[in-house]
Amino acid sequence: MKPPKISTKLTLFYTVVFTLFLAGVSALFYNLLEYQLDKALRDDLEERAAALRGYLNFDEGEPQLEYDVSDPEEANFITTATRYYQVYDATTAAMIRRSPAMEALGFQYTSEEVKELVGLVGRSDISSIQTEQVSLLIHSDLVRAPDGRSYLIQIGASIRPRDTALTQLFHISLWLVPAGALLGILLGWWMAKRVLRPVKALGEVAQEIGISQLHRRLPVRGSGDELDQLALTFNEVLARLETAVGQMQEFTANISHELRTPLTALRGEAAVALANARSESDYRRVLESQLEEFEKLSRMVNQMLTLARAEAGQIPIAHETVDLSALARSLAEQMEAVAWSKGITLTAELDGKVMVVGDSGWLEHVILNLLDNAIKFTQESGRVKVSVSSREGDAILEIHDSGIGISPDVLPHVFERFYRGDPSRSKELEGAGLGLSLVEWIVKQHHGRVNVESQTGHGSIFRVALPLAHPGSPEPV
Ligand code: ADP
Repeated sequence: MKPPKISTKLTLFYTVVFTLFLAGVSALFYNLLEYQLDKALRDDLEERAAALRGYLNFDEGEPQLEYDVSDPEEANFITTATRYYQVYDATTAAMIRRSPAMEALGFQYTSEEVKELVGLVGRSDISSIQTEQVSLLIHSDLVRAPDGRSYLIQIGASIRPRDTALTQLFHISLWLVPAGALLGILLGWWMAKRVLRPVKALGEVAQEIGISQLHRRLPVRGSGDELDQLALTFNEVLARLETAVGQMQEFTANISHELRTPLTALRGEAAVALANARSESDYRRVLESQLEEFEKLSRMVNQMLTLARAEAGQIPIAHETVDLSALARSLAEQMEAVAWSKGITLTAELDGKVMVVGDSGWLEHVILNLLDNAIKFTQESGRVKVSVSSREGDAILEIHDSGIGISPDVLPHVFERFYRGDPSRSKELEGAGLGLSLVEWIVKQHHGRVNVESQTGHGSIFRVALPLAHPGSPEPV
């Protein structure tokens, strides 16, 4: 099943909230009004009963209402207050008097009911009478005559106005709640459209951005809201992608360029050999020369592949404790023969255990690359020295050589990919210019730093600083 759209969810949410809110408010108002109307009716009845008591007199022992008939206000009050009015003898439960309206109802208490009501006076003065025509709220009062007899005096008030008001409110609510639900639907739909419009616009622009349009950016409205934040974050991702893709394109272009030159040379050599070579020794010479080129090419391709895979994060880096001193010693011993064959003295100056955390394979790569360069760029009878020491929480690896050095204009570029120094140097020194960029990448992966000091004609020092496995002590715990 297709998941519901955000706009549907928002609309539904608004509708439910509006409906529940209005239903709740209506119920609350209904209860409040009911309570208030009841209270007003009871208070009114009690007030009237208290006022009537003032007009009560006992003529021949029986309670009578006596008032000034000529006073319209008084007469009006008595008429209204006694519309529903009845008097019972509290002892005999006999009906003594009742108003015409009460009589018209045809209602009369039984003597048990009168006795019960008499018993309740003082605790619960309000009761009710329900007939087919009318519902009354009744106030009961017990009055003692001078001759000692007691009378139950009741006045009533119709609860119809209260019921009418409540019914009206109920009818209003019946309209209000569905109207609220409808408003919720409209408002939810409108809000959803309004909120999602910029999201839709972002989506449309994002969809148009292909790999060739990575320079494009999503529009930022400048409101600083969450959608702007989203657009800004997406734009940052785009910028990173643009840089990465740019680097890849540059890398590819560099590779093509690097491969084209030796391949053209190989092809030319083969063509010349085919056209001119006469003897087996001629062919052998050409093949030997080509073998050298092939070796260089395969070295270059291997380096490029390693660098590309490393940068793509495809090669995991181990986190083991490595003794940099021991590693440098074994590699120096390994390279000694190469140095010796070039008439170079290779020495090592290594502190006791210098422990770092990292990948011994990759660290080996760093030392070998630097040693290889040092030997490559040092003339006969020169010196190369490897040293490992620890200083201020860092393991320091240094490769000194007394070689040709690096000129100041070349120095800042040596760690760049495919960068090679002075091409006028002998052809055999030529590499792919990838070794140092791989060294820098590996060192960075180990949270370290690499730098170089050099003077033309006096040699170079490549210095690698890696965090010690246990700062302050070269001994691993
Ligand atoms: P390559 O494979 O060409 O040696 P690198 O990245 O290892 O590539 O080195 C880049 C450039 O830095 C070299 O071409 C060279 O000019 C210079 N370089 C590196 N190490 C040394 C060194 N020890 N002495 C002099 N020049 C060096």
